Amino acid sequence: MVLRVYNTLTREMENFIPFCGKKVNMYICGPTVYDHCHLGHARSYVSFDVIRRYLIYRGYDVNYISNITDIDDKVIDRAKEKGEDLFALSRKFTESFIEDMKALRVLAPDAQPKVTEHIPEIIEAVETLINKGTAYSTHKGNVYYDLMRSEEKIGTLSHQTVKGLLEGSGGRIEVENDKKYQLDFVLWKSAPQGETGWESPWGRGRPGWHIECSVMSMKYGSQQLDIHGGGMDLIFPHHEAEILQSESCTGKHPFSKYWLHNGFLTINKEKMSKSLGNFFTIKEVLDKFSPGTIRFFIVYTHYRNNIDFSGESLEEAARARKRLLNTISNVKHALNEAHKDGNDCRLTELINETRETLINSMDDDFNTREAIGNLFVFSRKVNYIVSNEAHSRAALEDVLEFISEIDGILGIFGEEEHEAYKNIPEGLPEYKIMEMIGLRDRAREGKDWVKADAIRDELKEKGIIIEDGNDGTKWRKG
Ligand code: AMP
Ligand code: ZN
Repeated sequence: MVLRVYNTLTREMENFIPFCGKKVNMYICGPTVYDHCHLGHARSYVSFDVIRRYLIYRGYDVNYISNITDIDDKVIDRAKEKGEDLFALSRKFTESFIEDMKALRVLAPDAQPKVTEHIPEIIEAVETLINKGTAYSTHKGNVYYDLMRSEEKIGTLSHQTVKGLLEGSGGRIEVENDKKYQLDFVLWKSAPQGETGWESPWGRGRPGWHIECSVMSMKYGSQQLDIHGGGMDLIFPHHEAEILQSESCTGKHPFSKYWLHNGFLTINKEKMSKSLGNFFTIKEVLDKFSPGTIRFFIVYTHYRNNIDFSGESLEEAARARKRLLNTISNVKHALNEAHKDGNDCRLTELINETRETLINSMDDDFNTREAIGNLFVFSRKVNYIVSNEAHSRAALEDVLEFISEIDGILGIFGEEEHEAYKNIPEGLPEYKIMEMIGLRDRAREGKDWVKADAIRDELKEKGIIIEDGNDGTKWRKG
């Protein structure tokens, strides 16, 4: 069977044929780093991680790029609000994000460029657009993309009319009085005195939201991507803006051959988001559930459908996953026992059949829900054979090897490999320990000894001993 993907651009299922043989340039929009990431972000990055892993499994040579938005209104506002240095703040949350992704077994991108490290390239792209006549600068030092120059392309990805876009933009389009047209989007934004900015031909300023992805995807990938992805909320204006800018810069169409968009993680049917305040950080959820359970919870839904989150839905995922883990234990247990020597055919056939059905499911627009359904059938049959029928040691080993082959795609079973969990006690990530030590330091500075002692005791209860010394507080496992 051939791999088929749903392309937002055509709104159809299409055969997956990259531009250049087996080479796949894949760009996934990264997070804006002004806070810890929440489970909605995990939903997006785990979904694309599975897609990437499956492409690798199918023999593609994947170049995976995912950016870090480390300058943006939200980052600036948060740094002001907290009285922190903007770069220190974005660095802290970038590290936090990378730590979360590692814990969730999301493979590190081949390139993870930051906006603030690509200002000259961004300025160059904005200049190109001005020279091509598709962008204009204003007396205020802003530069906008001139949408009227490519009016026919508006709605390419969102399949909406201009009226619909204006009504449904959800406030993601800046209202400025120096724009020619309301839908024009900003490429370069002037920075007021005292705010972070870089010198440019249009005065001190900083990049707009969309241009970074055009510039960095072309720098680290190609002028024409095979896959571009992100959450559905990015379809408009972000991804449409990327198409307009990139195609205008290079003159090449399409900027990306396939556009893939993940559905939302919702709470009470509302998108989990920082701005709505209805979020749980990945770290909070990792405190209570294992990375394997969180991944299982995410991939047990097709990536384009929404998932409604609740404590119960995660517990349910943990229980369902446990059924699969029990099969692994059964097989391991059987391996340690005197095996029932016999014909291996049943297990071997079962493995081959299951592999085929799994590939069919994944070839159908990465249908992980169905793939896991196949795994449940496999697990029930293995349980039966292991306890009722003759089987050889070699066949049992094949079952375990097959499970690990599938885990290479879904990442829902093994957990030992996580670096992030190597030196820290289960259930209390290093970040959390550092945060608690910071809170205790502040309590001590304010001579709030009761609070300081309570934090020390809480850490002790969780198996962490802290020691105060001349060069600060150190911690170790108790
Ligand atoms: P942001 O940091 O808001 O720019 O988001 C980074 C990526 O995470 C984007 O692709 C978003 O669409 C995605 N994302 C954010 N919140 C959710 C959510 N609740 N469900 C699914 N994806 C999300
Ligand atoms: Zn982007």
